[in-house]
Amino acid sequence: MSTAIYIHIPFCIRKCNYCDFYSVAFSPALKKRYLRALLKEIDRAPAAGEINSVYIGGGTPSLLDPTEVETIMSRIARRFNLSRDAEVSLEVNPGTVDLHKIKALRVAGVNRLSIGVQSMSPVELRLLGRIHEAADSHRALDWASRCFDNFSVDILYGIPGQTPSEAEEGLRQVLRYGPQHVSSYELTVEEGTPFFDMISEGSIALPDDDDKIAMYERIGETLEKTGYRHYEISNYARDGYQCRHNMNYWLRGEYLGFGASAHAHIRDVRLRNAADISDYIRMMEQEGSAVVEETPLTSSDRAHEEMFLRLRTDVGLNLDRLSTARELVRRLEREGLISETGGAVRLTEKGMLLSNRVIVELMDALERKSADHDRGHTQP
Ligand code: SF4
Repeated sequence: MSTAIYIHIPFCIRKCNYCDFYSVAFSPALKKRYLRALLKEIDRAPAAGEINSVYIGGGTPSLLDPTEVETIMSRIARRFNLSRDAEVSLEVNPGTVDLHKIKALRVAGVNRLSIGVQSMSPVELRLLGRIHEAADSHRALDWASRCFDNFSVDILYGIPGQTPSEAEEGLRQVLRYGPQHVSSYELTVEEGTPFFDMISEGSIALPDDDDKIAMYERIGETLEKTGYRHYEISNYARDGYQCRHNMNYWLRGEYLGFGASAHAHIRDVRLRNAADISDYIRMMEQEGSAVVEETPLTSSDRAHEEMFLRLRTDVGLNLDRLSTARELVRRLEREGLISETGGAVRLTEKGMLLSNRVIVELMDALERKSADHDRGHTQP
């Protein structure tokens, strides 16, 4: 069985206004110590199956020098059986690259870029607090299209002040560069971010629900008309270009995670590393491991995960898994939220839009049935 690898690079130049991910201010000295710890973690990792995907995410991994990426990749190749056709993705912030760096990343072993464009509007970029301008994104997309035959673009919709036409126009600008994959996320407001404060004070407001639904639909329709398949709630790809790393995650494959806050899933155990970069470095230096949590999964955990994750994708869930919730499945089908073909249940476009509600309803129904079943067995 193959395994995926996730590498976390937690540095950012500056915090974006909407972001609540853990990240630290970039400093060359800290990066050096962090990479030493990261390479030690790779060297000491447990044996794993053939590696068919490596994903370098963050933070802002494009703050690494290509030579550092090359060192990480050669350590992975030394420690594991790295497949010749492994997909090697690296997240890029358009404000951190030039043509020379994009070319050098290719030489370092990266064969897929994931470019965090987020918006093509100068006004929206400023509001989001991104470090880059629209012109940087145009340049990065142009270079990626010239140097890579597989690159993805992240966009956000539901930005304060944004209209459905503007969301669609931003996407159309991105599509001119021919990405093979697009991830489209609704902007969410997290407590503790500058965005949360601005919204609480009333200095900005999110688009209303009707506008957000219109944005979601227009983005989906534009992508599908242009030849992209909606293969997961937030992801669209041309045939054969689904993100290998994410598909492995959604189908509950095994993966190793290296770096601060990285997670792993190996032999039905979920592991989590220390999230704080100083804790991570100290633990790696002193103890040789930064794992702070190990959770063995029960069969019920596995069943829940399978349902929750598979239903997000167009692979869907085997109908047999929902045999105790047949009535609910029929009702959701009548409401146009799910469909059943070839023995698998999948969310429809409308179901993807309301995925939280549909998945929670299905999980609740299965939990109730399994509790009834357990009671039936324990009662005299
Ligand atoms: S670059 Fe990404 S990880 Fe860093 S602060 Fe902005 S959104 Fe968060």
